[in-house]
Amino acid sequence: MRGAAQADVCVVGGGYVGLWTAYWLKEWQPSTDVVVLEQDLCGSGASGRNGGFVLSWWAKYLSLRRSAGKQEALRACRESEAAVRELGAICSAHGIDAHYVPGGWLWTARTESQRGAWEGTVRALEEVAPEVFQRLEPEEVARRAGSPQHLAGVFEASAATVQPALLARGLRRVCLERGVRIHEGSRVRGFTREPPPTVETDQGSVRARVLVIAANAWSAAIRELRRSLIVVSSDMVATAPIPDRLFAMGWTGGECITDSQLMIDYYRTTREGRIAFGKGGWGIALGGRIPPSFDRSLRRAEGVTADLHHAYPRLRDVPVEFDWSGPIDRSPDGLPLLGYLGGRRHILYGVGWSGNGVGPSLLGGKVLAARVLQRDDWYGAFPLWDRRMPLFPPEPVRYVGAHLVREAVRRKERAEAAGRNPSPIYRWLSRFVPAGVEDH
Ligand SMILES: Cc1cc2nc3c(=O)[nH]c(=O)nc-3n(C[C@H](O)[C@H](O)[C@H](O)COP(=O)(O)OP(=O)(O)OC[C@H]3O[C@@H](n4cnc5c(N)ncnc54)[C@H](O)[C@@H]3O)c2cc1C
Repeated sequence: MRGAAQADVCVVGGGYVGLWTAYWLKEWQPSTDVVVLEQDLCGSGASGRNGGFVLSWWAKYLSLRRSAGKQEALRACRESEAAVRELGAICSAHGIDAHYVPGGWLWTARTESQRGAWEGTVRALEEVAPEVFQRLEPEEVARRAGSPQHLAGVFEASAATVQPALLARGLRRVCLERGVRIHEGSRVRGFTREPPPTVETDQGSVRARVLVIAANAWSAAIRELRRSLIVVSSDMVATAPIPDRLFAMGWTGGECITDSQLMIDYYRTTREGRIAFGKGGWGIALGGRIPPSFDRSLRRAEGVTADLHHAYPRLRDVPVEFDWSGPIDRSPDGLPLLGYLGGRRHILYGVGWSGNGVGPSLLGGKVLAARVLQRDDWYGAFPLWDRRMPLFPPEPVRYVGAHLVREAVRRKERAEAAGRNPSPIYRWLSRFVPAGVEDH
């Protein structure tokens, strides 16, 4: 953007969170004048290059219960499940062909030590929502996943998959059609904190009544958020199309699959019959500075490919055609952080999606829009709003500590994958890893 502009709401970041916030603002109050500032292209961040798992928060029920109590945790899980369906419905309604497949999620164990990683969550849910996780026989897990390397698991039916970039670009189009002013190639350099906030870009400025920060991992550079986030990479590869072999293996239900490592493996099939396979938490960023290796790292891609071959040894001959990476904004408990920046009611933020943002960002956008519009509903009174979390240590202690913990986790999980007992020191250090997509 060039020159000086004004708006009711200025959103920083054109990923899912920023776009869904703009979407719900226009849905609920069409007269709201919304500007979105995106440094690159909408979807060029994590939203355009993720694994495409659309998950609920059921696997985070225990963390939610700790933060919000039983009733609110249950409500939040049900809302997050509804968001998965709503995402599909909105795509249909607006002609966004984002390859939405409601195939469910298999939470599996691929080593002996991973068996039962879900037990605490599944048992707690059996009291309040027994229908959520379905216990499967080990043979059934291996059959659906298409590989006997899967030793055990549970199934959660509400999950779906999407082609992430098509969703981001489709949402952008819908926002534009609704009158949102989107400026791509507009990097925000800073903003004033007193009301009304003014946002400075490289070539212009926007003065708004309310500012919404939806800049994912890049938000770790903001003073007030610095100690609440740790930025790690997630790294992905995609195989050549092998639809016939997927059919022969029996992986035909469109399920998305995770194992139960702390450095989680996540994988799914695509419409073309590829396997998209990713691994979370390998690269670590220093503070809010995101290195180029978070776009692509050949070394980490080789490691991800090794995990793909561990899960599917019979596919060693299938070429890997693509690899890429992206940044993850991990919060201390793996749930997002939404609130007023430094208590200022004119600056809101929604960050810390911790590798589960595709589905929850629809809900997060509702929460942020409801706060802006001061709606008198559950979203406007979201129970996790402005919650207090322990802070990560300051840099450079965090960077060094995170490397130590990551290395311990990596060695522990490598030993377990090879059927060896990991050293107790690695096991002990692994306890300090922040929670991710699944509560263990
Ligand atoms: C490889 C990978 C795989 C993943 N897999 C999954 C998955 O399968 N399922 C799942 O639920 N989640 C997954 N995630 C996480 C998910 O992608 C994110 O949680 C989600 O996209 C967050 O949306 P966002 O809008 O907060 O972030 P982003 O999409 O990153 O949007 C933030 C935007 O802000 C922009 N920005 C940053 N700084 C500035 C600035 N100064 N000025 C202007 N613009 C700025 C960025 O360019 C970016 O476009 C994955 C992430 C990665 C990287």
